[in-house]
Amino acid sequence: MKSIRVHEPGAPEVMHLEEIPPLTLTSGQILVRVHAIGVNPVDTYIRAGKYARMPAMPYTPGTDASGVVAAIGEGVTRCKVGDRIYTAGTLTGAYADHTLCNESQVHPLPDRVTFEEGGGINIPYATACLALTRKAHAAPGETALIHGASGGVGIAAVQIARALGLRVIGTAGSERGLAMVKSQGAHEVLDHRTSDYPERLMKLTDGRGVDVIIEMLANVNLARDLTLLAKNGRVVIVGSRGPIEINPRDAMARDASIMGLMLFNAPEKELASIHEILAAGLKKGELRPVVGRTFQLTEASKAHHAVMEPGAYGKIVLLP
Ligand code: NAP
Repeated sequence: MKSIRVHEPGAPEVMHLEEIPPLTLTSGQILVRVHAIGVNPVDTYIRAGKYARMPAMPYTPGTDASGVVAAIGEGVTRCKVGDRIYTAGTLTGAYADHTLCNESQVHPLPDRVTFEEGGGINIPYATACLALTRKAHAAPGETALIHGASGGVGIAAVQIARALGLRVIGTAGSERGLAMVKSQGAHEVLDHRTSDYPERLMKLTDGRGVDVIIEMLANVNLARDLTLLAKNGRVVIVGSRGPIEINPRDAMARDASIMGLMLFNAPEKELASIHEILAAGLKKGELRPVVGRTFQLTEASKAHHAVMEPGAYGKIVLLP
């Protein structure tokens, strides 16, 4: 079988497509024929050796794939051979033409969702759903700022927030991204490259501020976010690429809460319930990943460069 392998951490070019022995299935496991693979920023941090949880070398990157069940081990009851599925983590890595999973890592992919879209579900949608429901406890009628709405997590957050009945303001850093965020259901869009977007946000909320902020780049925005919150507002930090100084009084004045979120910390039971919520939204068509660019698996290094560039436009997906 074909698999991307990383023998030592480094630049995107340390990833090479290799022919490796076929995977062997044991009881309780599922062998998946992979059709599409979602590329997430965390894949690049791990590949670069800059992540707290590093795999043993060599390894195959990736957690998010979609595909078809090719074989099941003894005792597997959640799916059968031929089922369309998406993965929420794998045992052997997703950047390959086959991957092995535990039963709990495999979720049904509704017919209305393509394989390419299915590769973009797990990390973005589970993170956005946790942030809005379990952390922010966002309620219908509240206003949410999705700060960085043009990327994988952002689009998921816009769609989930709309499904929850929130008023949604989304930001992006390109004209194309802004148009897409609007088309995905944001009531208003703002360009986070402009210096006056905070004032425009305050105008959009009649000076009240927003109830919830889902923040993709806290090291740039957190100090200002605290000034954009309404009373009892909540900021959920999803992404941050460095330190930042804040004025705690901005939080005190609003009785505001700042919450961190790490998807990998979520207990299995909580993840199972999040994927049930996602299943309902995917089935109804309320949730549907936007695929911005596809690359062949042989071009994994190009995809890793692309996911770290500005001007995000949905998910980057690899095709084996
Ligand atoms: P992505 O697809 O690459 O999108 C990045 C987003 O950040 C884009 O919408 C981008 O907008 C936006 N951005 C760029 N500059 C910004 C600014 N100044 N203010 C606000 N937003 C800005 O990445 P992703 O998959 O959505 O992930 C987003 C971040 O969350 C990454 O840092 C990722 O590592 C992290 N993350 C964390 C968890 C967790 O468990 N905590 C889970 C998933 C992701 P433009 O490109 O349009 O400017």
